[in-house]
Amino acid sequence: MIKVFLRKKISRRVVDGHPWIFSNEIEKVDGLLSGGEIVNVFTHDNKFIGSGYINPKSQIMVRLLTRDKGIGINEDFFYKRILQCWEYRQKIGYTENCRLAFGEADSLPQLIIDKFNDYFVIQTLALGIDLWKTAIVDALKKIFNPRGIYERNDVPVRELEGMEQHKGFLSTPFDTNIIIHENGLKFNVDIENGQKTGYFLDQQDNRKAIEHIVKGADVLGAFTYTGSFEIHAACYGAKSVLGIDISENAVQQANQNAALNEVASICKFQTANAFDVLKEWSKEEKRYDVVMLDPPAFTKSRETIQKAIAGYKEINLRGMKLTKPGGFLVTSSCTSLVNAELFLQTLDMAAKDAKRTLRQVTFRTQSPDHPIIRGIENTEYLKFLIVEVQ
Ligand code: SAH
Repeated sequence: MIKVFLRKKISRRVVDGHPWIFSNEIEKVDGLLSGGEIVNVFTHDNKFIGSGYINPKSQIMVRLLTRDKGIGINEDFFYKRILQCWEYRQKIGYTENCRLAFGEADSLPQLIIDKFNDYFVIQTLALGIDLWKTAIVDALKKIFNPRGIYERNDVPVRELEGMEQHKGFLSTPFDTNIIIHENGLKFNVDIENGQKTGYFLDQQDNRKAIEHIVKGADVLGAFTYTGSFEIHAACYGAKSVLGIDISENAVQQANQNAALNEVASICKFQTANAFDVLKEWSKEEKRYDVVMLDPPAFTKSRETIQKAIAGYKEINLRGMKLTKPGGFLVTSSCTSLVNAELFLQTLDMAAKDAKRTLRQVTFRTQSPDHPIIRGIENTEYLKFLIVEVQ
């Protein structure tokens, strides 16, 4: 087994429980590396830290899978880990649709598995986990006897690991347009061509959180994707709902979802750039009872954080102006580099410019099937805020 020794003068982060080891924290590697191998990691003075996978091409050179000394990393290891993931989701009550494996938060670094009832969508985003794909698929087959398993590895981050982007079946081919149930409503999920794994499960509880504020309301939603928030609003008794997304394909699916839930007469969707229409409509003094914003991540790099904050400020400022006094703004951010405090500060700045006061209804994060591990920053990424805009 290849041995990795850490430098003496590095922070305690890894010893304290963080699973990532950066290349500049490594003193030496005993053994030849091609990439993806399982290695044992030791302190400078030969104390065992844990086992994980290595990739010399990656800045995060090792990702730890376990800190137990006697455990072998093999097919059975992955079967047991995935079974543990499932037992945890059952315990916390997320069974029909859930993020079954959330990477580092499930001690399965860079592995994402979304469960859509009997269908599973997998992403293996690092070489060291990609090499175990067959073991992971076998474990899913053994535990769930699924109707289908699909790989959505068409993700640019794989190229940083020296891997190609790829998508395709990991089971017998099946119809990749499926219908899932969420909060009693129905949604089409396009596993093959939808964004990310096809559907954003992380907002499933937050969609329910709008139930009371949308009754009898005129609602505007921007960055709607397949219309999940907007269709919830319509089904919860909104008077009218308009959803905006830049993707024509998303708008088409959103219209289908509205029809599927029999709310097409009150819930309409339009293809447009939200930055343009929010600005235009706020200047035209259009007003809504509820405005909902759920943009994509604005940055993945520290260098462009200021630009991301400017983006959040702009759309939220416009969103506030578009909200009638006493109406509600429902606003999200999934940029993990913009933490909760920074996001709230940005909203305060927007409120000041809009000359409005915000009264907080609720401030939340992602649903608990995407667990947060204290000390692993990236596991806490979603911010979801409802405010009354006075
Ligand atoms: N609210 C959705 C998820 C939104 S994901 C849900 O709960 O499922 C973000 C969406 O923003 C994507 O569908 C993307 O197409 C859209 N988008 C990105 N840039 C945009 C822009 N400038 N204007 C409008 N929509 C945009």
